[in-house]
Amino acid sequence: MSLSADQIAADLRRFIVPSYPEIEIRVEPWEQDPTRLAIYFTDAKFTVLYPYQRWHYLTHLIPEEYQSANLENTLWFEMAPGENPEDLRYPDIELIDEITPDVMRCLIGSRFFEFLDNVMCPQATDEPRCECWGDFRNSRPILLARGFKEEELFDVLHVLMRAGGFCDCEILYNAVEESRLKAEYWTARAEGRSPYDPHASK
Ligand SMILES: [Zn+2]
Repeated sequence: MSLSADQIAADLRRFIVPSYPEIEIRVEPWEQDPTRLAIYFTDAKFTVLYPYQRWHYLTHLIPEEYQSANLENTLWFEMAPGENPEDLRYPDIELIDEITPDVMRCLIGSRFFEFLDNVMCPQATDEPRCECWGDFRNSRPILLARGFKEEELFDVLHVLMRAGGFCDCEILYNAVEESRLKAEYWTARAEGRSPYDPHASK
């Protein structure tokens, strides 16, 4: 027996509101196919995030068993206030995977990862560090300064997200083989210290 739209909305609020206290969640039959439920998430925190990032953060808050039991056939729309479902641009995953090797070559050639590491984890220990806000606000200006164009950032950042880099620090932890930030993390773990957390002040 499947849950009602109201029940799903209530469950989702229970999972998500602790992390997104202001989120609006609406669940209703999808206009284009009323046999399926559409779930509309709206939050001001989504403004600076790509829909794929928004989805990533939401899906991690909802238990997997709940998702496979109740949400398999649902459509999700993750919006910032003022946006509509048709404004949302999702990546073509096949295309992103196809361009990944070339994009990574361009990124390495541009020394983007080194420059990002330099601001997130400067070599000189007395230099202030840029913190991570769970988005790409440190990466964007570096990419632009290293020769990438604004209209290329969608592809570039989605390649990095597919590699596990959903924010500035995760790029250095997950999307690149070596970084000072990652090395420092593992040194701390190996020595039984709690690693520096770039998200700490949030
Ligand atoms: Zn981060």
